[in-house]
Amino acid sequence: MPESKPILLPAVISVKQLAEALDQPVTSIIAKLMGFGVLATINEDIDFDTAAIVADDFGIMVEKQDITRAVANTADTSVVSHDIRTRPPVVTIMGHVDHGKTTLLDTIRKTNVAGKEAGGITQHISSYQIELPPKDGNEKRVITFLDTPGHSAFEAMRRHGAQITDLVVLVVAADDGVKPQTVEAINHVKSMKVPVMVAINKMDKPDADPDRVKRELSDYGLIPEEWGGNTVMTPISALQNTGINDLLEVITLSIDLRDLKASFDVPAVGVVVESHLQPGVGPVATALIQNGTLKTGDFIAIGEVSGKVRTLTDHKGKRIETAGPATPVEISGLSGQPRFGERLIVFPTERDAKDAARQFVRSTTAKRAISALASSASSATLKEGKKSILNLIVKTDTNGSLEAIRDTMSGMKNEYVEVRIVSEGVGDISEGDITTARTAKALVVGFQVRIPAAVKTLSEREHVPVTLYSVVYELFDAVREVLADLMPMEIIERELGELKILARFRDNRKRVVLGGMMQSGEVTKGVLVRILRNKTVIAEGKVVGVRRGKDEVRQVRAGSECGLEFELGEGRENVAVGDTAYFYAKDEQKKALELQSQKFIPTIKPRLL
Ligand code: GDP
Repeated sequence: MPESKPILLPAVISVKQLAEALDQPVTSIIAKLMGFGVLATINEDIDFDTAAIVADDFGIMVEKQDITRAVANTADTSVVSHDIRTRPPVVTIMGHVDHGKTTLLDTIRKTNVAGKEAGGITQHISSYQIELPPKDGNEKRVITFLDTPGHSAFEAMRRHGAQITDLVVLVVAADDGVKPQTVEAINHVKSMKVPVMVAINKMDKPDADPDRVKRELSDYGLIPEEWGGNTVMTPISALQNTGINDLLEVITLSIDLRDLKASFDVPAVGVVVESHLQPGVGPVATALIQNGTLKTGDFIAIGEVSGKVRTLTDHKGKRIETAGPATPVEISGLSGQPRFGERLIVFPTERDAKDAARQFVRSTTAKRAISALASSASSATLKEGKKSILNLIVKTDTNGSLEAIRDTMSGMKNEYVEVRIVSEGVGDISEGDITTARTAKALVVGFQVRIPAAVKTLSEREHVPVTLYSVVYELFDAVREVLADLMPMEIIERELGELKILARFRDNRKRVVLGGMMQSGEVTKGVLVRILRNKTVIAEGKVVGVRRGKDEVRQVRAGSECGLEFELGEGRENVAVGDTAYFYAKDEQKKALELQSQKFIPTIKPRLL
């Protein structure tokens, strides 16, 4: 009799926990697993997909409760928030080395962190808040500054999908101009789609040349307001404390327009911005709370680390009991040192927090095994027409598991890729497997088997890659990853922007000059264009010139008028005022992997938050 309400299971669960959750004897669970070719002991972890198959066999419905769901719970869905308010903005300072980031942060901190307390700032708090005096009878205004994490750290954060900053202040020295790390920062800002503001620093220097900075920044699409662009650029001297108030003023102005909100009464979600080992205390981490409120005593997981919050310390080194949205806070009570950029999530119980951390470890191990196989795949593929064949030698612990693997792999093919098992067997990896692999150009994969030392040496000498797996779905995922990598490239179109044509100027042979208003996105020289009228294509071609007024510019964004020169093909004479120019780029990317049969291939996508 199926249960009416599905039982929630984590993405990774031990056999014992599964038995408890399903209310079945452990021995029956183990027996069922064996039936599916999975040999697991009572304390061994299995993934959700395996657990679901077992549950299904008992006629019990289960559903996956994973980290993402936990985030949703704490962020908004099932937990109802009654306290959604404006939160402080989070501002990050970026820029080239020696352009004055640290000096700027110090100057802001010295002048704005309440009096004597500033001296008590702990060494390790890598972010802090400042308070600005109230304006127009409003509440006091707070800004959170994130101490310049290196740009590579930013990259890591982006990979983890953590969007932590609301605004980037790009510091450029007026006597030095745009430098490589300035460009790097601009690229980060663009890829993160965060608003950016420029502080032109070192204005006190005799050779300060702010116009040069503006010109150079314009080349990268940051156009100052006074030149018709939309980037605020404030001249300052961080060293002499001039222009800093103006800078804070424009920061608050731009933030006020956006009205950033967060829930204050739900369990916290945050991101780690720093961590270290503190003698006598153990691992401590500074996290920026993004939503909700973190309290002492909360159960948390951060990546593969979990714990119960023992103490919370604010940026002034003061013990606090709670930390709300946009607050940087130092946390103790962790089982280990979390990594920069990892997400902090509060769980209702200690066990949930531990499970989440364990699941994270699992997904990282899976990822490693996958990349081990992927990196060696090229040596084991051959082409048959347009098809890439991946040759495998499969060794497993039992006949049951071999059958299951063979069965699944036979369905892992489509018109472009295919897995071919050139040899298979039960037992540890042998010398024979290595020599066969060498002649057949195959990879050796093992499931629940070992590789004797002598065979390992041989495999290294013969450059035959051997990868071992203990969870069957990790093997499937790895193979799928390799197949995805073997897929051919395809061209896809990326929309860049749209312009309403308001004027048609002169033509010369193939070239057409049009004036118009950018409706959305942006246009740059060289991009492809399609002229549309009522969704019908009138002409196609590319943009060969972009002008604002008389000046040739690199780029024009939504909301601006511009003149564009086009090279258009057939139909160009019909282009008229009122038509729409649609700008796009052609990107090359791998075709998505779709396999003939998805039988038995549940995904355990590594869940890196
Ligand atoms: P960071 O590497 O970007 O953090 O740069 P720092 O803040 O460490 O500054 C690098 C150097 O530039 C230091 O010697 C600062 O004293 C100096 N500096 C920073 N801001 C100014 C400024 O406004 N004017 C002048 N003259 N020097 C500055």
